[in-house]
Amino acid sequence: MAEYEKYCYAGKGKDKFDLDRMKPDAGIPKERKDELAEATKKNQAQIMALQDRLYADGREGIVIVLQAMDAAGKDSTVKHVMSGVNPQGVDVYSFKQPSSEELAHDFLWRVEKCIPPRGKIGLFNRSYYEDVLVVKVHELNKNYKMPARCTGMKSDDFFAQRYTDIRNYEEYLYHAGYRVVKIFLHVSKDEQKKRFLERIDTPEKNWKFSSADIKERALWDKYQKVYEEAIEATASEHAPWYVVPADQKWYTRYLISEILCDVMKDIDPKYPELSADAAADLAKCRETLEAEKPEKNKDKNSKDKDGKDKNGKDKDSKDKDSD
Ligand code: ATP
Ligand code: MG
Repeated sequence: MAEYEKYCYAGKGKDKFDLDRMKPDAGIPKERKDELAEATKKNQAQIMALQDRLYADGREGIVIVLQAMDAAGKDSTVKHVMSGVNPQGVDVYSFKQPSSEELAHDFLWRVEKCIPPRGKIGLFNRSYYEDVLVVKVHELNKNYKMPARCTGMKSDDFFAQRYTDIRNYEEYLYHAGYRVVKIFLHVSKDEQKKRFLERIDTPEKNWKFSSADIKERALWDKYQKVYEEAIEATASEHAPWYVVPADQKWYTRYLISEILCDVMKDIDPKYPELSADAAADLAKCRETLEAEKPEKNKDKNSKDKDGKDKNGKDKDSKDKDSD
């Protein structure tokens, strides 16, 4: 059993998902740090090779959803796990507060535009899950410009509908040839405090901090509750949630590299095989290329046998003239 499997919730068990049972700090002994960093590197190399095949194959796409509280390490996860991967094969999107144009549409409108073509990886830094997380915590739905049948219903019913919409959307993507890999970086409140203080105390990290982060932190328990509800309601066999402990960054990176590697191995992308006609065509092209004289000998070859070039000049006259 892969180490990450204990962090996977596919919603098929009888037990309800309980976020409290998932520990943000897995307590992995420091002695394993080097070994896991080495394993992560190996996984990165595998991801790189598999991504090349995924792109060439072009039959299946991957959507990675990264959700977390602030400072849980979303950005550094993107950086580390994807390092070395051909940038042409990955599209990263950060989902921020929706614009007025986005708010005037259904909540999946802006998402659909970011689904990569098959063969590519779409990495969502936050996602459509914000529409059942931050929106639920702040009850933003109450102020949506929508008909009364939407805004007038009980909040729980409104979000129950959204969970269904998300489940159906992820199933739709699966039917359309995509894998949706959902990762929740589960950080503890203490670790978030430590990382916030580091952002405040380190000038190079100041830009990462915003006083709004403190306001959201004050709603910690509410966020944990809505995360639990969303994970419980949207985990499915084809789009499971990975609730990954995020207090030890090196362990988090290792787990995510393992998850991604296994998803890609499971897809098993193949370089396209050539038809007999295309293979014959390729052989002909090879012959044509091999029959070509090297460019560097072209000048020499354009002179006739008597040492005169096509203008009748002596072979070395140019050199002599310029002497
Ligand atoms: P960083 O690590 O840089 O802080 P971030 O993902 O937190 O990254 P921010 O610009 O700080 O980026 O925050 C984006 C904000 O947009 C988040 O607070 C998020 O909850 C909010 N947001 C995203 N989607 C929605 C949405 N559909 N409705 C309301 N708010 C949203
Ligand atoms: Mg932020």
